[in-house]
Amino acid sequence: MTEPFDAPEGPPAAEHAKSLLRLLPGETEELVTRLGQPRYRADQLLRGLYGGFATSIDDINGLPASLRARLAAEGYVAGIAQEAGHSQSEDGLTTKLLLRLDDGTLVETVLMQYPGAPGSHPRSTVCVSTQAGCAMGCVFCATGQMGFERNLRAEEIVSQVLHFARLLRARGEHVTNVVFMGMGEPLANYAETIRAVRLLTGARTFGLARRSITISTVGLVHGIDRLAGEGLQVGLAISLHAPNDALRQELIPTATPHSVGDLVAAARRFYHQTGRRVTFEYALIEGVNDTPELAAELGRVLHNLGVHVNLIPVNPTAGPFVRPSRQRVLAFERALRAAGVNCTVRVEKGTEIAAACGQLRTAAANAFRKAPSAPGRESPSTAPSPAPSPGR
Ligand code: SF4
Repeated sequence: MTEPFDAPEGPPAAEHAKSLLRLLPGETEELVTRLGQPRYRADQLLRGLYGGFATSIDDINGLPASLRARLAAEGYVAGIAQEAGHSQSEDGLTTKLLLRLDDGTLVETVLMQYPGAPGSHPRSTVCVSTQAGCAMGCVFCATGQMGFERNLRAEEIVSQVLHFARLLRARGEHVTNVVFMGMGEPLANYAETIRAVRLLTGARTFGLARRSITISTVGLVHGIDRLAGEGLQVGLAISLHAPNDALRQELIPTATPHSVGDLVAAARRFYHQTGRRVTFEYALIEGVNDTPELAAELGRVLHNLGVHVNLIPVNPTAGPFVRPSRQRVLAFERALRAAGVNCTVRVEKGTEIAAACGQLRTAAANAFRKAPSAPGRESPSTAPSPAPSPGR
């Protein structure tokens, strides 16, 4: 069954470099044996990619020249993305990268750090994009307003994490969490998202704990049910943004096929099947969905579900959507708590570097539009624009 508003799956663009990063361990073994090499060469390749963060096959230690030559002859590469822009928040805790993929497509990825106890490493969460652009069209989201370009391949998703892993290793730190909350709807790019999760969590690949991964969806019910059946033990966040269908469809025009009730039922099924409680995301927009009455209505919808709600004051925007005052945010939180629902106001990270989904990319696109030649191929300005607001 296909979701009515699924973006197309399958190969997202005609020509792509063949990246070793795409291959699961079994596939890497198949490759090296087909090339006449012993099976242990697969582990050398995987260690080079995920332990050494090699960006080219030449960077992988210990490979015989014959294997390097065969891999090159077959068109294999290691790295799949290059840094095209970089910005950091004033406190240094949020870093945003703009990456250029091999076909020139630009995607953004964000590192958010949360200081730990004195003497311990910070929690380092990478927020990855799964699509270039997004077809979901959330009216308050910069990416949603850009439209859909293409699905990202698993190796392009994994590359985003590896870029930050490399940066962190230079300071003796490491990636602790990955959230699929950047540009795009992960469950509309289902197969590549799941492959990326397997690559990120495999013991012979990136080795991240499955529970350290959260996939966020705007509410593709079929995808949620599929995900529950994968046995992956990843977390799930559902972007709700409204307690009733009429308001939700104003904010997420593509939400029509699934009611709020459908999403609540899907969250319940997910919990029963995986044992993992679902988080609901709620972007607070002044005068639109932030009244205590709507908080009470949300409380009735989610009552007895045992879920947690993240309240996210919408990022400052040049459009018609405004971040509520602190007072309004706290009033909403109190009303929701009074209705018996656990919730927290999410700490905003990187507002000044446009860290909400789509914003750096929008800044880059603006820079390209101003460039006299070769749009999409020049180095973008990394100055953030006052672009429209957050994603999830
Ligand atoms: S908020 Fe997420 S799902 Fe909605 S348009 Fe933006 S990227 Fe797409």
